[in-house]
Amino acid sequence: MKILVLNAGSSSLKYQLIDMNTEQPIAKGACERIGIPGSKLTQKVNGQELVIEKSMPNHTVAFNLVLEALMDKEKGAITSVDEIGAVGHRVLHSGEDFKGTVLIDDEVIAICEKNAVLGPLHMPANIACIKSCREILPGVPMAAVFDTAFHSTMQPKAYMYGVKYEDYEQFKVRKYGFHGTSHKFVSGEAIKYLGREDLKIITCHLGNGSSISAVKNGKCVDTSMGFTPLEGLTMGTRSGDIDPAVLEFLMDKKGMDIHQMLNYLNKECGVMGVSGVSSDFRDLTAATKAGNERAKLALEMFAYRVKKYIGSYAAAMNGVDCIVFTGGIGENDQDMRAAIMQDMDYLGVNFDFDKNSNFKRGCIQELDNGGKVKVLIIPTNEELVIARETLELL
Ligand code: ADP
Repeated sequence: MKILVLNAGSSSLKYQLIDMNTEQPIAKGACERIGIPGSKLTQKVNGQELVIEKSMPNHTVAFNLVLEALMDKEKGAITSVDEIGAVGHRVLHSGEDFKGTVLIDDEVIAICEKNAVLGPLHMPANIACIKSCREILPGVPMAAVFDTAFHSTMQPKAYMYGVKYEDYEQFKVRKYGFHGTSHKFVSGEAIKYLGREDLKIITCHLGNGSSISAVKNGKCVDTSMGFTPLEGLTMGTRSGDIDPAVLEFLMDKKGMDIHQMLNYLNKECGVMGVSGVSSDFRDLTAATKAGNERAKLALEMFAYRVKKYIGSYAAAMNGVDCIVFTGGIGENDQDMRAAIMQDMDYLGVNFDFDKNSNFKRGCIQELDNGGKVKVLIIPTNEELVIARETLELL
């Protein structure tokens, strides 16, 4: 069976068509700038690139173009939509309503609409994409795979904030966590690789958005992102953890309202804001090597906070058996991995800096030299998790 995986952002629609016999993608593509002038679809099938530059005022138009591209006579991957056996939608937020993947029906859509307030940037796009997909492909089964679901095993002591309990009850203000499909995939791969489930694993998904999870016996016990993806690590452009009193202080000083403030914390801060150079770690590493002190500081702050989260999750689980690096930075940035893993011997980590420098890309790699803690690079594959869960439901 071929499964189409859709990942709708506020102005983008990424997709993969996956052949479930081989679990390999047969087409990969993305629509960018939906609802903004200059929309463009790019697709790769068998190394052949197809680009369609057409106006995409909304996700319905974009999804129609995706089907057109998939069925392109020269550069497409299928000859008829009948070849699409099912669709797996990445949906940002499950609220407290879903603990796993569900088949999409009217009721599921209604619950997603109720939870849209919890993810005002992504949820409307997710819902619009689901609705247009149902209209255009009636009768094709569709699943919603939630980015928060893997974290639904957290205990109240981990997900509650120290706010009034009534505000949790009435408004559902609590930690939810994100990047769940990635943390689930890489912790599952670590369990397979090490041959046992009774492990304490810390998964570090380090990319443009970054988060860390503590996974005990295959279940998430804590994670660094919170009510929104703004909490936790210092990210590409997000501040991560901050004293909330800073908001009022800076709003006052800079004359910002709360919407401007949140935009600032999400889009202008993090390593971008500190360095003033870039949110991209390759640029920051290059700038640091050229002597830029603020780029160096941004990288040091990033590594330091990852290290602190690893320490706190080892404390939460009474130890750690395995640390996993994944995401664009976790998989590729040897300098950042080395900075994070400096002075970790107190945990029983015997990090091998040579293995770290001579790592191979795109496969599972061991970075330790024996010791109590396995340190692994595991390339993430969120689309495959979505496709597998969709197939499992069917
Ligand atoms: P997203 O959260 O958007 O999915 P990614 O997981 O692709 O982001 O990660 C993007 C980050 O990964 C960028 O900061 C980029 O610099 C970093 N990155 C990607 N490739 C490399 C590389 N070869 N070396 C160092 N950093 C890299």
